[in-house]
Amino acid sequence: MIFGKKDFIFKDVNQLKGVGIQLSKYLKRKKIEKIKDILLNLPYSETDRSKVCKLNQLEIGKIQSIQVTVKKLYFPRIRNLPNKIVCEDETGRIEIIYFNSREGYLRKLFPLNETVIISGKVNYFNKKYQITNPDYVTSLKNKDYVIKNIPKYNLTKGLNEKKYRSISENVIENLPKIDDWLDENFIKKNKLNGWYESIKNLHNSNINKDIQFKSFRRLVFDELCANFLSLSENRKRIKKNKLPKVFSNQNSNSIISKLPFELTNSQKKVLNEINLDLLSGDRMFRIIQGDVGSGKTIISLLAVSNIIESGYQCALMSPTEILAKQHYELSKKIFNKNDVKIEFLTGKTQYKKRKIILKDLENGKTNFLIGTHALFQKKIIFKKLGLVVIDEQHKFGVKQRSELAKKGGDNCDVLLMSATPIPRTMMMSFYGDMDISRVNEKPKNRKKILTLSKPEKKINELWPFIKKQIENLNQVFWVCPLIEESSFLDYSSAKKKYDLINKRFPNKVGLIHGALEKEEKEKILKKFLNKEFLILVSTTVIEVGVDFPNANLIIIENANKFGLAQLHQLRGRVGRGEKQGTCILLFKDGLSKNAIKRIKILKESDDGFFIADEDLKLRGFGDLMGFQQSGIKNFRFADPVIHLDLFELAEKFVKSINNSINHKKFSFLLKLFDRAEIINVTDI
Ligand code: ADP
Ligand code: MG
Repeated sequence: MIFGKKDFIFKDVNQLKGVGIQLSKYLKRKKIEKIKDILLNLPYSETDRSKVCKLNQLEIGKIQSIQVTVKKLYFPRIRNLPNKIVCEDETGRIEIIYFNSREGYLRKLFPLNETVIISGKVNYFNKKYQITNPDYVTSLKNKDYVIKNIPKYNLTKGLNEKKYRSISENVIENLPKIDDWLDENFIKKNKLNGWYESIKNLHNSNINKDIQFKSFRRLVFDELCANFLSLSENRKRIKKNKLPKVFSNQNSNSIISKLPFELTNSQKKVLNEINLDLLSGDRMFRIIQGDVGSGKTIISLLAVSNIIESGYQCALMSPTEILAKQHYELSKKIFNKNDVKIEFLTGKTQYKKRKIILKDLENGKTNFLIGTHALFQKKIIFKKLGLVVIDEQHKFGVKQRSELAKKGGDNCDVLLMSATPIPRTMMMSFYGDMDISRVNEKPKNRKKILTLSKPEKKINELWPFIKKQIENLNQVFWVCPLIEESSFLDYSSAKKKYDLINKRFPNKVGLIHGALEKEEKEKILKKFLNKEFLILVSTTVIEVGVDFPNANLIIIENANKFGLAQLHQLRGRVGRGEKQGTCILLFKDGLSKNAIKRIKILKESDDGFFIADEDLKLRGFGDLMGFQQSGIKNFRFADPVIHLDLFELAEKFVKSINNSINHKKFSFLLKLFDRAEIINVTDI
């Protein structure tokens, strides 16, 4: 046993007594990998399950607790059909669904006509509220148990609560005293608690709520500091001296003069910010944030042209081949063929061709390489790489950003482009290591997308409108409901819809869904782009960024399943061309007040950042689907709505110690919140 040393908390959980191979597997499945994760796996959760909701106030998709009477139990004898328990309170009815549970067990858990407390994620299916495999079910007598002792993670098969608690207690009891990295005055002044006592308090359900509250805020503050520290360290490591690029803007001005449109002021401003970076003696590490369709691509290509003028090479990377191809075609159009040699490289590029491309990069003949992830393979050597541009980088976390910058070399500037709308308050905590440019103006000729909402049962009213679109050879996106986070169920619902629409419009419909291989998806998108069919039924996999100038209608089913920011991004797929774009949101009946508010915001605004801010206010951070799917690492404790003051405090704190960071002192903190790796990548 390794108790007694403070770094024991960074050891693997399997080092603990009583945690064997099997158990540690289960723990790891719950993201409890190191001993410190047990410390951070708090039995109190701020998303308070102790609040009991009435059935007419339930919010779909949220984990909630209800107090209901057991009315009926169904045990179908047919394989694969789930067991079902119908419960009620005075305001409504809900179904509790169990897959693979024995009848005897369920009868004990749900005594007929008795009141039980149930906690779990609420869904809405077949016009009924449902909870499938609830996290907790307990009798009224045991109410305290629900309120007081719920670990944050529900415990799955193999991980029994009693066992888990004994492991957790053992770790906390034996926690060696650890020196605090905050000094006492700071802690007092900001009404926090010491770290060591905070951990102990938070695992002790007999401590009063006020102290618990302060202790929790301490952990939030620590987490935020770890985040800001790692960002600031990353920035320091990247923004080092480089040779300034030398150019006169001659080429880029010539390109601008030939564009079929005028740059917006916002585009000009951002281009100017980029140019200043390129000309300066510090490496550029900048992100362009701008709504879908705000015209980020052309900005980056103008920067590319300046870099090429200054005698350097450029690389532009996109997440998908189809998007990369669009950039390639555009670049061939705007660059002068005689001056600029452009190549296109993906994983599929044939061996012979690839060999030539690599050679020409290495000897400097090629000025500009466009492609997919293939651009960053080891074998690819540039003679003089001066700028890396990454499009739609929403899957890039801090660690990847830092690796990317390293790969480019010391004189290489880095430019990222993102259309993921992020609330203003989150900007610093996600992109604090980068300089941020915002394109906050849409091209002048762009029409606002008409956004409408409709109950699903009136779907028949839509057919004539859709028919008209098809007759005019316009294209339509049809986004299907996300039923579960399961690609199979998504697929089956999209498939059904496809069959239905295909009957109405034979040979005019295509289907794309998450379970397809990437290559297959790209093939289908290409066909759609070439107008081989006119309606594309899809789950949410429609690529961000690909320009479908001919699509002007998007129908989104079950729209309340999506975050506002996500809906906004989805509707940005249409209305890029001359024609008026329309977005129709389909809803099930019985929208909550909140849902109605959300639709209103979407109808009224077309500013992605405003929408993201509002989304955050209405739904809270944990629910922002856009974030979960964007791959940006979520915080464990911090929530920008609840802890806004701590975000500000932590940012200020990190700035104040910035020049005198004692890495030894803070390395513990960085490790605690899994941020140390980022620093190591660039070698302290
Ligand atoms: P995004 O910011 O989503 O990457 P794109 O760069 O793909 O947007 O631009 C979307 C479309 O708008 C493209 O067809 C592009 O040619 C066009 N565009 C870009 N800037 C302007 C502008 N200032 N005026 C009119 N159209 C523009
Ligand atoms: Mg784009």
